[in-house]
Amino acid sequence: MAYYEEMAEMYVGDDVSPDFYAWVFPKYDHVGVGTGTVVNRPAIKKYQKNTRERVGDKIAGGKIIKVEAHPIPEHYRPRRVQGRIALVGDAAGYVTKCSGEGIYFAAKSGRMAAEEIVKLMKGGSHLPTQAEIENTYIKKYDGLYAPTYTVLDILQKVFYTNNGAREAFVELCKSKYVQQVTFDSYLYKRVQGNNPLDDLKLLGETFGSLIKGYSIAKPDEEINNPVESLKRI
Ligand SMILES: Cc1cc2nc3c(=O)[nH]c(=O)nc-3n(C[C@H](O)[C@H](O)[C@H](O)COP(=O)(O)OP(=O)(O)OC[C@H]3O[C@@H](n4cnc5c(N)ncnc54)[C@H](O)[C@@H]3O)c2cc1C
Repeated sequence: MAYYEEMAEMYVGDDVSPDFYAWVFPKYDHVGVGTGTVVNRPAIKKYQKNTRERVGDKIAGGKIIKVEAHPIPEHYRPRRVQGRIALVGDAAGYVTKCSGEGIYFAAKSGRMAAEEIVKLMKGGSHLPTQAEIENTYIKKYDGLYAPTYTVLDILQKVFYTNNGAREAFVELCKSKYVQQVTFDSYLYKRVQGNNPLDDLKLLGETFGSLIKGYSIAKPDEEINNPVESLKRI
């Protein structure tokens, strides 16, 4: 634990996750040692074992106090309002694809839902209905962020599914324009980039880097249940 008092670690590689990363995150008086995958869930135990091996001596002698596993909620829940209950954050499925970012969206949706519900309550004289909450909080949230979720979903499908595509993505990230759009999109939480000429150039570069990526990538790890797993991407 002492080693991790001021330290968080991330590990990458097919041995610990084919599509995500493994981590050691300090949490007050213990550490969380974990890994994640969408594309090869049945192999999670192998990835956990390999993660512990990679961490090695740094967790030697530690006691396992809890074993848990959760899906990262990267899909909107089918119902986000039921009666007068409104879901926000992870409960609503607001983690973005690609970046796995959920803290901002949890805080933002929580605040937005609360503000809209307070307004609907008209100083405590009215109980909001499901339709009213859907027409305010849900409509406003989706209006602001649905395009972001869609673009990141497409990016994940194109660039995260195999080694060739991942190599292509790394290649593309050399472009100043890609770096700027990525930085601005992270900063403003909405997809930026409104330069048609650069967008067109980027499209050409994307095809070029995909061809190069597929030619240099090492073969993908075999996935035990490709059909079921890929459906979840
Ligand atoms: C490995 C990993 C890495 C991540 N990295 C990032 C990152 O770099 N950037 C980023 O933005 N996001 C990241 N996320 C996602 C981010 O952590 C979540 O999206 C975010 O914390 C969601 O906030 P939340 O308030 O909705 O839910 P939570 O943070 O899960 O909060 C829910 C709280 O409710 C409590 N609770 C549960 N049940 C009950 C109950 N019955 N009664 C009372 N309390 C209860 C829980 O203990 C918890 O404290 C990561 C997630 C994981 C797993």
